[in-house]
Parts: sequence; structure tokens; C-alpha cells
Amino acid sequence: MAITKEAVIEKLKTVRGPDLEGDIVGLGMVSDIFIADAKVFFSITVPAARAQELEPLREAAERAVKSMPGVAGAVVALTAEKKGGGMEARVPPRPAAPQPRPAPAQAPAARPAAPQGHGPSGHREGKRGVPGIDAIIAVASGKGGVGKSTTAANLALGLSANGLRVGVLDADIYGPSMPRLLGIRGRPQSVDGKVLKPMENYGLKVMSMGFLVDEETPMIWRGPMVMSALTQMLREVDWGPLDILVVDMPPGTGDAQLTMAQSVPLAGAVIVSTPQDLALIDARKGLNMFRKVDVPLLGIVENMSYFVAPDTGKRYDIFGHGGARNEAERLGVTFLGEVPIEMTIRETSDVGAPVVVSAPDGAMAKVYRDIAGKVWERLQEERGRAVAAPAIVFE
Ligand code: ADP
Repeated sequence: MAITKEAVIEKLKTVRGPDLEGDIVGLGMVSDIFIADAKVFFSITVPAARAQELEPLREAAERAVKSMPGVAGAVVALTAEKKGGGMEARVPPRPAAPQPRPAPAQAPAARPAAPQGHGPSGHREGKRGVPGIDAIIAVASGKGGVGKSTTAANLALGLSANGLRVGVLDADIYGPSMPRLLGIRGRPQSVDGKVLKPMENYGLKVMSMGFLVDEETPMIWRGPMVMSALTQMLREVDWGPLDILVVDMPPGTGDAQLTMAQSVPLAGAVIVSTPQDLALIDARKGLNMFRKVDVPLLGIVENMSYFVAPDTGKRYDIFGHGGARNEAERLGVTFLGEVPIEMTIRETSDVGAPVVVSAPDGAMAKVYRDIAGKVWERLQEERGRAVAAPAIVFE
């Protein structure tokens, strides 16, 4: 029997609201529900300040719907109500609750030092480049789950499809996802007992902690260890020659991320955000982090931007689409493009064959190739700017 909207609503009434009061339907937190090909899409509106804390609620709702007979999949996103909306009144922020610290260990050694260079090209002055790599860019997000790794993988493949020699460095030491996303297994071999050969698939050279440590091995990292692992993956790998290396940063904007942004000779950064306000608050933190360390912002990608019903082709902006474009304009940052929420993007990622390679003629592959084109264009602009800036020579 085909699954109905009403049945989904009934099921969602079993999901308790925040603070275990009422249920998410009764509290008016559930958006309109879309069903296509037995897959269910909806969003849950929460106060922006409690987004991180309410992630388990999103997971509970997704689990509840997935458990229903006849449901092939569920995509649930948290969205933040704009200021002044009724949600804040119904679900009050909890001022006393301490904000959970991000997972990375905050060892004193990992704390950021003062930026090493200033001025238009300052970010490159204090940091050694990596031989054989022409440009290194970061893909970052203010929080997890916005599709940063999915975007990084498809962006890298898009750059490659546009004719560039591309590598991917998975800097998410705590939750490496590139081996799964790019369908690569096995261990990198050493060239000469010291330098490792990167793994390869789909024409990309790839390095990830996931190749070096078994998935089951509990990884207890301290700040300095994270940095030395990253430095090794960057400098003790036979990358070259590459036109561009895409670094998938760990999610968030904590000290560990800041140190990474500062230690890697980045030519630019791409921020991935979902459309809703709450992600944008985090995205702004991401922008500020790169500004702090003098890394040029190449732009913002809006992910899970809208939903196209597969049966009618009609577009639905269930996740409050447009936020990232407006915000990018307001902040003077390039808007690189929008990626719809698409079951094929998730499914192809899960099986290690991202859309850009598994459906190269499809609409989604084009979306990513266009974003890749814009990223490359922005990179050339920034380089032109850096070259044009007069060098100050002290004698
Ligand atoms: P992050 O790196 O930000 O934590 P991921 O890239 O792991 O996020 O994505 C989180 C989940 O969302 C994954 O299951 C991924 O397949 C899915 N996803 C990402 N982007 C999209 C999209 N545009 N449409 C549908 N699913 C997506």
C-alpha cells in the first residue's frame, strides 16, 4: 500500500517535542510533507539557538518515518524559525544549558597563534606551499550534516570533469567519509619507505585517515596529534602534479578547525550551508574563521536548497530556500550555486559513486560542474589580486 501524508503525520505524533512536552505535530513543528517514490521529505522547525541540541529529535523523527511499512527512505531537515516567529514562544530557548563543545580535543598546543601574514597575499607568505600542488582550497561548514563532504566530493569530481588534475584530502580526522563517498578501500602504499602514494579513483588522488586507521579503531586524538596527522597527509604524500587539492575540513569552527585553516597553505575556501537561518548563523562563523586567518573566501554553496517532486517536476522550497543567496549578497561573498535535495545525491554517495561520475549527463552533475567552474574562476580572480598587490620589501 502506498504511504500517505496522513499516515506519516499520525506516526510523527508519536515523536515527543523538545523537553518531552507534547509531540512535534501538536507543537506545529512539522512542515508540509512531500512523498515521492515512497520517500518522505519534510522539515522540523526549531529555535535557532537550540538547533544543535535538537539533532536527536530530527533523528528520532527520521527513524520513526523510516520504520513505517512502505517507506523507502526519509529526508528530514531542521530549519530555524525566523526571529519574531511563534516557535520561540512555544519552545523556549534554554539559557542555562551549556553549549556542547565540539569533539576535537582542545590541547593548548592546538590553539591558534597569531596569523602569520597580513595584506592581500599575506596568507601565503608564512606557509610553505606543497610541491606539486598548484592550489589548495578548503570546503568547510559551520556545523555537521549540511552536506559538506558530499559537496566536496562532487566539487572535486566536477573540477576533474572540467579538465583539471584534482586531489582530495579528507581532513575530517574524527569522521573521515571520503573512502566511503569515493568508493575506495585498502591502504596507501609507500613509495620509498617514507612518502605515501595517494589512493585513486575516478581520476582523483585521495588521502584520508580512513585509509590508515580501521573504522572500528577508537580514535582518541589530541590537538597536536590531529595536526601532525594532517601535516603528514599533506606533505608526506606523493600528490603531484595537481592543479588543485580539495580539502574536506572537519565540520564546525572550533580551535582545531581554525588551526587547520591557518596551517594549510590555502588559496581559498568554499562554505557549504543549508538554506535555513540556523545553518547560516553557523555559516557566518565559517566565513569569519577564514577571514581571521586571511584565507580568501571563494563563495557559498547552498545545499539541500529546494526539492523537486519527481512525479510532477514541481519545485518546492520546503527548507526555506534562498537564505544563502541573500546572505551571500549581504556579506559580499560570491554565491556559487544551489544544490537541490535529491535522493540520487544521497543514494549515489552511499554506494561510493557520486552523481558527477555515476550520472554525468544528469542535471545534478551539471549543477556540480557549474559550481566547480565558478570556484575555479573565483580562484583565478583571487590569484590575480594577490599578484597585482605590490610586494613590500624590507632591506
Ligand atoms: P557533512 O559532511 O556536512 O556532515 P554529508 O556530506 O555527510 O554532510 O551529508 C549528510 C547527509 O546528507 C548524507 O547522508 C548525504 O548523502 C546527504 N546529502 C547531502 N547533500 C544532499 C543533497 N543535496 N540531497 C540529498 N541528500 C544529501
